[in-house]
Amino acid sequence: MLRSLMLAGSWLLLWRLAVLMEYAPHASIWFPSAGLSFAAFLILGLRAVPIVMLCSLIATFWVDDLYAMHQTWTQLAYTGVLFGAAHCFSYYCGAKLLKQLVRRSFSDALPKIILSFLILGSLSALLAALLGTQVLAGSGLIEQQEAASIWLPWWIGDMAGTIVLTPLFIGLLSWRYPLIEGWLGGLDFQQSGQGLYGFLVKLLISSSLLTLTMLLAAQFRYSEVSFAVFFLIIPQMWIVYTESAFRASLSLAVFSTLTAVWVASLSLMDYALVYQFAICVISASAYFGLAVPVLAAHNAQLRELALSDGLTKVASRQYFFERAEQELLRARRYQQPISLLVFDIDHFKQINDQFGHTAGDSALVLVAEAIGKGLRQSDLLGRFGGDEFLLLLPGIDLDKASETAERLRQALRGVKVADTRHFLSGSFGVVQIERHEDFQDAFERADECLLKAKKAGRDQVFSSRPAEQR
Ligand code: GH3
Ligand code: MG
Repeated sequence: MLRSLMLAGSWLLLWRLAVLMEYAPHASIWFPSAGLSFAAFLILGLRAVPIVMLCSLIATFWVDDLYAMHQTWTQLAYTGVLFGAAHCFSYYCGAKLLKQLVRRSFSDALPKIILSFLILGSLSALLAALLGTQVLAGSGLIEQQEAASIWLPWWIGDMAGTIVLTPLFIGLLSWRYPLIEGWLGGLDFQQSGQGLYGFLVKLLISSSLLTLTMLLAAQFRYSEVSFAVFFLIIPQMWIVYTESAFRASLSLAVFSTLTAVWVASLSLMDYALVYQFAICVISASAYFGLAVPVLAAHNAQLRELALSDGLTKVASRQYFFERAEQELLRARRYQQPISLLVFDIDHFKQINDQFGHTAGDSALVLVAEAIGKGLRQSDLLGRFGGDEFLLLLPGIDLDKASETAERLRQALRGVKVADTRHFLSGSFGVVQIERHEDFQDAFERADECLLKAKKAGRDQVFSSRPAEQR
């Protein structure tokens, strides 16, 4: 009940504010109630319809009072119900469609969700403007001719209210209704208290620049000065990239409200369309901007998945081979040796059979940790697959690589399968990559050495000299 009252109260308050900023009868620069209706239908669904209907009815009676039209009560009730129905139908349909699209999308489809929101928000506003003007004309509140001339500014005012403010209202309503929080594809709508001072300073800078621009536009009444408002996308984007999604949408709300207030109070109505478009374009860009940090985080996650082995966190086979090719080129350019070591755990199948695959998995992790501990920054450890690992040693010749392999073989002997008395061992194949050898051939040579080590009884190091030294 309290929530419904709050919603109705806010809707009517915003509506009254919009009437203050009308630049033609029934056409406000910016109609925030449309954004609130859209957000309410998105979050509350059909439950919001009676509240918005009631608000539309009250607003119709209020219009009669404000414009001193003196219509009869029955006529006003009839117009109010029709106006409410047109408003609810337009925004409910748009919200319903958007909700279905969001439900079907994954969080990395954020730009698609934002695009759908912008398109459906604009189309809902268009439908609301067309139906709304027809209702007013049909009920005699305005002339048919007038309806033809006000549907466009009505649409743009509704569109500004919808696409600028819906995300903020979603954030606020989500806070009141925590269950649906965060459905906007991973956008951070939490109202964190962190760095509030910094945010307020940014808000102050952006608002001061807007005020300055508007004062200049009022002083020098050239259209060029009015168009300068588009440059204010810069402070808005600054906020978008450095603050949470909630704060960014709050900043857009402040920006659009202040623009509407200045247009009304400085009598800049001749250029109202410029300001309406500026509000819409800056907000649309800002919402796409909000998707960038989310996409960057997803990219980092995907990169991590592609580059490293999911279990042991060492380099994946594909990444190891790519890096190895680069290291090989570098070693050749600086005429430095480079060696490759391949090793495989002995009788690993038995570990799985005896202690289970989970114990096997954790043994692989322990191996990667034990081997990784004794490596230099420039060495690269990778997992070929199963229980076979690869180690690239740039700047190391065969003798030193064999010593390293011997040290690692002993280190492996100290690794125990968790919660058992079973110690591991491994077999090693070592090669120095030859000057004209490609990496794949070197790998096959190392693998042959490994096989020899296995055949010779396991837990050993086998190496093969480069052909020119044999
Ligand atoms: P060998 O001494 O000849 O190497 O004997 P092995 O038992 O270690 O045989 P091989 O290396 O051919 O087989 C490795 C086994 O490792 C086969 C498979 O069941 C197991 N394995 C492969 N990948 C994984 C994994 O990710 N987790 C676990 N737990 N086991 C794996
Ligand atoms: Mg093995």
